[in-house]
Amino acid sequence: MISVAIDGPAGAGKSTIARAVAEKLGLLYIDTGALYRSIGLAVLREGKDPAREEDTCGCLPGISLALRHENGAQQVYLNGENVSEKIRTPEVSMAASQVSAFPAVRAFLLEQQRDLARKNSVIMDGRDIGTVVLPFADVKIFLTASPEERARRRYLEQCGKGEEESYEEVLRKVIERDYNDSHRAAAPLKQAEDAVLADTTGLDFAEAAALVEQIILDRAGGQLAGEGARE
Ligand code: C5P
Repeated sequence: MISVAIDGPAGAGKSTIARAVAEKLGLLYIDTGALYRSIGLAVLREGKDPAREEDTCGCLPGISLALRHENGAQQVYLNGENVSEKIRTPEVSMAASQVSAFPAVRAFLLEQQRDLARKNSVIMDGRDIGTVVLPFADVKIFLTASPEERARRRYLEQCGKGEEESYEEVLRKVIERDYNDSHRAAAPLKQAEDAVLADTTGLDFAEAAALVEQIILDRAGGQLAGEGARE
């Protein structure tokens, strides 16, 4: 089994890049943000405030999450319901960032994430994969880009979906989420000491994906070739 941890701030392109590289290298792609988003959605659906620890923790016993891969794409199930699309709204993004600050939420998801990496060769993306979830990952990458570039990408993506947030509003939220993610006490977003920094500012998708693939091959190419040979 090999494990690749990709961490970095919102909008750095982690999920699109990790998904494409995972497919190319034959690894299972795991988007851990979907788990935090599903908890955020569950709290909102209960009519509770995701920024309040008591509200969020009170909802946890009623939450059961499962990640499944169907036709090569990760799907997330909340109490048996496929919520993969419903978790992609700006409201749920903010709720996910808020609930992820609570240690009980992080503890709730920790074993589930580790279990996936025990059973599969994975590329796992998140905020604390290299630092907390998989500290012994074979490859750790910290993927980033400037806040303006990340906001521009997210804005264009949202325009494509018909969402009407202005660029300024998207940038404000990117900065707010960065702040929340890197200043929380529990597992803050930070580069692991042994992670390779990949800055994708100014790179297009193909260039950024090639950079990430090369880092993985440089660090774990031998292991990957060994896995292929065993199949
Ligand atoms: O990656 P994505 O934007 O989907 O993540 C949603 C939120 O979940 C992030 O803003 C972050 O606060 C939280 N998260 C986290 N740890 C992870 C993955 C996501 O705290 N491993």
